[in-house]
Amino acid sequence: MVDSAAAMKVPTDMPTAPHEAAPDRIAPPEAAARQMAPGTGREPVRETDVLVVGGGPAGSSAAILLAERGHRVVQLDKSRHPRFHIGESLLPANLPLFERLGVAGQVRAIGMQKWGAEFVSPWHGGRGETFNFTDGWNKSLPFAYQVRRSEFDEILIRRSAQQGVQVLEGCRARNVEFLPEGHPDGMRVRVTAGNDDGSSVSWLARYVVDASGRDTLLGSQLRSKHRNSKHNSAALYGHFRDAERYPDEKRAGNISIYWFEHGWLWFIPLSDGATSVGAVVWPYYMKSRKGPVREFFLDTIAMCAPLAKRLTNAELVSDVEATGNYSYSCDQSYGRGFVLAGDAFTFIDPMFSSGVLMAMVSGVAAAEALDTCLRQPEKYAAAMKEFDRVVRHGPKEYSWFIYRITNPTMRDLFMAPRNDFRMKEAMLSLLAGDIYGDTPIWRSLRAFKAVYYIFSTLSLKRSLRALRRRAANIRPDEPERMTAG
Ligand SMILES: Cc1cc2nc3c(=O)[nH]c(=O)nc-3n(C[C@H](O)[C@H](O)[C@H](O)COP(=O)(O)OP(=O)(O)OC[C@H]3O[C@@H](n4cnc5c(N)ncnc54)[C@H](O)[C@@H]3O)c2cc1C
Repeated sequence: MVDSAAAMKVPTDMPTAPHEAAPDRIAPPEAAARQMAPGTGREPVRETDVLVVGGGPAGSSAAILLAERGHRVVQLDKSRHPRFHIGESLLPANLPLFERLGVAGQVRAIGMQKWGAEFVSPWHGGRGETFNFTDGWNKSLPFAYQVRRSEFDEILIRRSAQQGVQVLEGCRARNVEFLPEGHPDGMRVRVTAGNDDGSSVSWLARYVVDASGRDTLLGSQLRSKHRNSKHNSAALYGHFRDAERYPDEKRAGNISIYWFEHGWLWFIPLSDGATSVGAVVWPYYMKSRKGPVREFFLDTIAMCAPLAKRLTNAELVSDVEATGNYSYSCDQSYGRGFVLAGDAFTFIDPMFSSGVLMAMVSGVAAAEALDTCLRQPEKYAAAMKEFDRVVRHGPKEYSWFIYRITNPTMRDLFMAPRNDFRMKEAMLSLLAGDIYGDTPIWRSLRAFKAVYYIFSTLSLKRSLRALRRRAANIRPDEPERMTAG
């Protein structure tokens, strides 16, 4: 048992009025009682209400809001910020979250305004079709930002610290041990972590938020992480200087998505003049690489004439990164003493730039659920059920489109969008990330899906060919169950 004065002030999972909780939160974490880890005699053990693993958008969103509500929060990141991360194109629905988290001004200062998304298809004469968010159903979400994630994630994690979270960088959570029920201070987990300097530290926590991203700390530990059997792709990416931008101010910041033979490519203009370019490809194509990854990446870009043209005078100024086999989900999003947020729970193909939004939404949902559980433990079941609903909603809605986006019927519909039954406006809401809350788009999206099925049936041979090709493309080349990112 840990003899923590701070812990004694906050009874186990009992309702805690914010004004009572605040002194615990702002007390220097080192002042919280410490003792040696039972059994080891080496690691200092500290106590906290919530331990957040990960300093990405999911972890920081959860940490900021939990701290604001008066809970003691410790947030660990194995890296030190600023650090590189992929995932630079945000959605309009991110903006209200920035307001809520108190970072809107800072994100505005680093962001490139993104007013829409352009889809370019070689099967439609190489032309582009632009979706402007201003044409969407919800006129209050007209644009988003493209950001360097090193800067964006740093804004969020510094905000965490500002709100009273004890942020520890260069500190990697290694293990989560689940404690037997009945701990006198209501502690349910012991999280053990290793610092950069080789030292170890442990925390007892009422809850842990696993926001460790694709490292999937708990999904791997609990062996609940599965490859997505309906999708399978890999990615290559890097940054260019002097890529060609559209001269029109309202188009210059758009993301461009280029379909090509082996998948699709992205072009994301950043505010400092750099451009992020990436290729999302089927596994067979990735496996065909014979030479260095840099050459392979440049050769891949060369296969897409309209993108290659925009990069004619550009220079690749970064290393080229590769990520293999990356769609997965964990069986459970929560359990006794833990929740999984963002990529730590599930990862879907980034075609719709939805990852950061879903990570932040799940971080916010985690904060809301845990706040309820800590204050009103009797509402645990309802709070977690609602959390689970929220974290599954986005991946489910986007996945329907992701699984079909390389189908010729879907490409036809994207390249000639129609607004019958307000289908185009509903699609724009989806592209804007406006899928949470009371949005009225669902009937129109159902109409879109019905039109897709009708057109697919009308071109039955072509559809069946595409289905067979896709089934071959996503065939796994590794065992079904994965234990690491
Ligand atoms: C190729 C590619 C392109 C993408 N493009 C986009 C895009 O354009 N737009 C978009 O919105 N999304 C995109 N995404 C998705 C996006 O990157 C993620 O969905 C998003 O970053 C998830 O946020 P997160 O907070 O869950 O995890 P992360 O952002 O990955 O953060 C996890 C954090 O946890 C830390 N960590 C990991 N393990 C530990 C540990 N054991 N202990 C302590 N700390 C740990 C890491 O250092 C990291 O800082 C893309 C993804 C890929 C792979």
